[in-house]
Amino acid sequence: MQMKTKPHSVLVINCGSSSLKFSLINPADGINIIDGIAERLMTSDAKIIIKFHHHLKNNTPFEKNLAPPFDHKTAIEQLVNCLTEHQLVDQISAVGHRVVHGGEKYSQPTLITPQVAKTIDELAKLAPLHNPANLIGITAAQKAFRGLPQVAVFDTAFHQTMPEKAYIYALPYALYQEHSIRKYGFHGTSHYFVSKQCAKQMNKPIEQCHFISAHLGNGCSVTAIKNGQSIDSSMGFTPLEGVMMGTRSGSIDPGIIFYLVEQLGYSLAEVNNILNKESGLLGVSQLSNDCRSLEKMALNNDSEPKKIRLAKLALNVFCYQIAKSIASLSAGLNQLDALIFTGGIGENSAFVRRKILKQLSLLNFNVDDQANDTARFGASGNICQQDSRPCWVIPTNEEWVIAQQSSQLLKHGLKQDT
Ligand code: ADP
Repeated sequence: MQMKTKPHSVLVINCGSSSLKFSLINPADGINIIDGIAERLMTSDAKIIIKFHHHLKNNTPFEKNLAPPFDHKTAIEQLVNCLTEHQLVDQISAVGHRVVHGGEKYSQPTLITPQVAKTIDELAKLAPLHNPANLIGITAAQKAFRGLPQVAVFDTAFHQTMPEKAYIYALPYALYQEHSIRKYGFHGTSHYFVSKQCAKQMNKPIEQCHFISAHLGNGCSVTAIKNGQSIDSSMGFTPLEGVMMGTRSGSIDPGIIFYLVEQLGYSLAEVNNILNKESGLLGVSQLSNDCRSLEKMALNNDSEPKKIRLAKLALNVFCYQIAKSIASLSAGLNQLDALIFTGGIGENSAFVRRKILKQLSLLNFNVDDQANDTARFGASGNICQQDSRPCWVIPTNEEWVIAQQSSQLLKHGLKQDT
């Protein structure tokens, strides 16, 4: 017999320009009923993979090449077909969307009305790579799931508690007043989730917790959290600022941009491409944007010496920049209960974590090698010695937050309506 999932599941959608990730989640316990990805959309290689989790009878993953026009709408149609076939459509209470930029307008999850969609569109000028893609997902989901509430959960929302002194750039103030040029911070949903989880692990109310969290994935950001609220973050007006990332440069001297354009003849579009797609771990190593591959190369004595040297250099610059960012963000705190690592690298790379912690001995971090080697692949734990300031590895789960917040918003919305 087909096992029924609990009612009030939330379909979480994270739509990028060429991919669409989705999961159907029970917000109460975070259990994934299905998840999957449609990728290489808008190309002839477009495909969709849907994984059905163990509690469904037919849990063979569904994998299919997408038929023309290979776009987000086609992907959502396939998803709806699968959900219908598994009798899951009736269990969806809402669709929760990850939206990258909420500007100063949105500090909370928000029900997507036509006006809200229009504002997300207007905010696309602040996030031209992300918000338009998020909107494509919203439009496709609205058509496919007519009548279901759609909720936007913004990546910038958690950072809206930053004080002025943290978010104002030392630029003419009119650029902030008239053009909204300020620090926003990103990865907010992840920093929010891991800080709450860490508070739980430490048995302390989140309102009394002071953390620095480092989300290290393809994109990387470090956030200072005071009394459970974000007070500063390394990413800025765009997700390009801050520490070095997979392919993004992070902060550089802005003078380099003028030099590239005026002296070396690069166009602005080329500079944009270099800073976003050809820099970071990939740019320095000239090998890969993938931390795993670089670690392998750095430790492989049989490789070409130049490759080993550049892999090591990329990892050294990466870890040093993150350590510096952690140290500099500590300036906003008068207490630091723990450092938190999360994201693909933060959750899995004992090598990177050890290197960062060694660099931070002045802040009294003293890594426990055994605990550090154990806290990987989904395991959480304090990876520092007993006499050290704690450093926790906490796997992030942004999808669960989006499901929880969408579901909570609905409940509060219903209360207000009655
Ligand atoms: P995204 O920001 O796209 O969500 P992830 O959070 O999945 O990315 O992080 C991807 C990064 O995590 C890649 O650099 C990858 O090499 C790294 N990573 C994943 N597993 C490991 C591992 N076992 N050791 C080192 N790095 C890892």
